[in-house]
Amino acid sequence: MLESNTPIQFVKGIGPRLAEVLSTKGIHTVHDLLHYLPFRYEDRLNPRGIAELRPGEMATVIAEVRTSILLRTRRMPIFEMTAGQGRASLKCIWFNATYLRDKFKPGQMLALYGKVEENRGQLQLVQPQFEILGEADQAGSNPPAEQRASSLEVGRIVPIYESAGQGRVTSRWFRRVIHWALQNVPPETPDPIPVAVRARMKLPGPHEALWNVHWPEPGESLQDLQSSRTPAHLRLIFEELFFLELGLELQRRQQKAQTGIAFALNDGVRAAIRKILPFHPTAAQKRVLKEIASDMEKPFPMRRLLQGDVGSGKTIVALEAAIIAIENGYQVALMAPTEILAQQHYFSSRQVLEAAGYRVVLLTGSMEEERKRQVRRHIAQGNAQLIIGTHALIEKKVEFAKLGLVVVDEQHRFGVLQRFRLMTKTGGATEANPSSYSFANAGNPSAAAVPPSEPDVLVMTATPIPRTLALTLYGDLDVSVIDELPPGRTPIVTRRVSDDRCQEVWEFVRKQVAAGHQAYVVYPVIEENEENEIKAAIKMYHEMTKRIFPDLRIGLLHGRLDPELKEQVMRMFQKGGLDVLVATTVIEVGVDVPNATVMVIEHAERFGLSQLHQLRGRIGRGAARSHCILVTGGKVSEDGQQRLDAMVRTTDGFKIAELDLELRGPGEFFGTRQAGMPSFQVANLIRDRQLIEVARREATAVLDGPNSEISKDEIDRAVRHLRARWRKTYGLAEVG
Ligand code: ADP
Ligand code: MG
Repeated sequence: MLESNTPIQFVKGIGPRLAEVLSTKGIHTVHDLLHYLPFRYEDRLNPRGIAELRPGEMATVIAEVRTSILLRTRRMPIFEMTAGQGRASLKCIWFNATYLRDKFKPGQMLALYGKVEENRGQLQLVQPQFEILGEADQAGSNPPAEQRASSLEVGRIVPIYESAGQGRVTSRWFRRVIHWALQNVPPETPDPIPVAVRARMKLPGPHEALWNVHWPEPGESLQDLQSSRTPAHLRLIFEELFFLELGLELQRRQQKAQTGIAFALNDGVRAAIRKILPFHPTAAQKRVLKEIASDMEKPFPMRRLLQGDVGSGKTIVALEAAIIAIENGYQVALMAPTEILAQQHYFSSRQVLEAAGYRVVLLTGSMEEERKRQVRRHIAQGNAQLIIGTHALIEKKVEFAKLGLVVVDEQHRFGVLQRFRLMTKTGGATEANPSSYSFANAGNPSAAAVPPSEPDVLVMTATPIPRTLALTLYGDLDVSVIDELPPGRTPIVTRRVSDDRCQEVWEFVRKQVAAGHQAYVVYPVIEENEENEIKAAIKMYHEMTKRIFPDLRIGLLHGRLDPELKEQVMRMFQKGGLDVLVATTVIEVGVDVPNATVMVIEHAERFGLSQLHQLRGRIGRGAARSHCILVTGGKVSEDGQQRLDAMVRTTDGFKIAELDLELRGPGEFFGTRQAGMPSFQVANLIRDRQLIEVARREATAVLDGPNSEISKDEIDRAVRHLRARWRKTYGLAEVG
């Protein structure tokens, strides 16, 4: 019998070499193999007769190779193969397919899948996918072709798998191995999903689900199969989501059970907060501050996500929270994703806080060693009260005297794992085991002996996160939302123009500058790339200073400038010393210059939707009407069209985020996988949105037990399963 955690190389017929190929598909164990699902299915139970094919349809045809030939046309080599069923025959063609030359032998059985097209009155399959089912019979005593193919290949709905190792490990190979594995794993392992949940969701058992998802019953709906909506699919998807949500929920509860700091919120503290406020907070700002303050007063650690669209005024809320901690004698760390942002926070919070006598320091990677040492000393001695920095703050060398609150700004730039690390820094866990903090001190005896007081953590993000995504990424956090912009903002007007009208755009910029405003002009890359003729920031900067705006004050900002210069340029722009700032996307996040009213984005079609939205968020921060001009150069792809249309249509960040997620998928949505997205084996964040909500609800219900519905044993089993799963998927030490 195979165990589900048996390493794949010990499976019959798979050695170390194949195991390595499989690992590129994330297959390391028998469990992984069984969860390597078909990406589509072919109905080879009712394959189509050649005579009944209609142009335009997708069809599976099982037929025998008759003839094949490689034609060298003037434009490209074309491979032609004629397949037959009795008298009927069908031409199949592949373009540029020299590699097919010796592939087929007359008499071979093929399964072909592709689009039927009509060419000069004749039907043909163009570029069909194919699988060789059986070899030509050498002896010449031809049994019916179907019988020569194995029963895993025809006479049923057949699963099609993505091949691996550049096609060396074929779909057919997977079929055989997975079929064999299914027969050899024990069919009766206890279901980790509690019975009551399973019943409510009408889910089949785990083993049955695996069989049916790989080898569907003949009556199964092909459409449900293709869209992963059969009961078997739903079971596997739900299981994956359920254990993710269970883990996040468990973690949330454990964090709440830890010892935290109960900050006092008395009249003195309230007065201190009022003193720093430069303006009247909006109702939304008041509400979220209340939520945050109430967390901070409680004797367990706050884990809260503050969401608010660009410009909604998150910073001041964070500073208010900082005052609560500082007034209670604690230090506050504020972490930003880039140096520019850290610097900006540093300058703006000094303006707000230093007048009131608070001590603010900046610590970033690019600072001189000596200066860094000095700042670290201030931090360690407790002189520094608000410490602002980049990732340098989570470096080992930084010791805090008495850290009470951690604020992480623009969280979408940080991954889940980085967040864990940061929280670790503040907690009792060790570097070697960065996750033990967030995964409960239950697994960490030393921490249990001397319970450390966990600092509060406030995570802020300007990326409106679609709810389903928030549930999977931030399910371990409580959420506050600022859903209102500060008063006096005029909506931003967004227009799209093609770059042959750039003269008009420059004239417009000039008018705005004449009216006392400032403008951003953003380019996708730093240096000219001859191949795709992108106007680069540097070149355009020169162009503007010499030719377009010789009389205006132009600044240049890009990622390769040295940090000090960057800082100078940014500060100059902020103070109104520059009329136009030519930049790459380094200005994307968080930069705040209310007097800037124009955002020109060149080659707008090359930017992602969320990125465009972030860039646009740099303007519309003051009372004057702001304009975002999306300039397109050359041909715009269909996706590009959709992005630009969305930008013109709406400024609602949540709508934009939903669409962006749909267009790009969750991985891209957050940059890369490195951004700490949980990676799913069978679930899909977009396709399975509704299931995520359901999984969340069910996971909460389980943890609210044990009750009459779900037994203690079942909860234990679910948690054990979860542990094994999380250890593997997220490389994290301990859950529960
Ligand atoms: P974000 O949420 O994008 O970080 P910021 O905190 O940078 O937004 O705030 C954007 C701008 O709005 C800043 O110039 C800030 O001073 C201003 N602002 C924030 N809240 C208010 C308010 N209640 N009234 C007036 N201006 C505000
Ligand atoms: Mg901000």
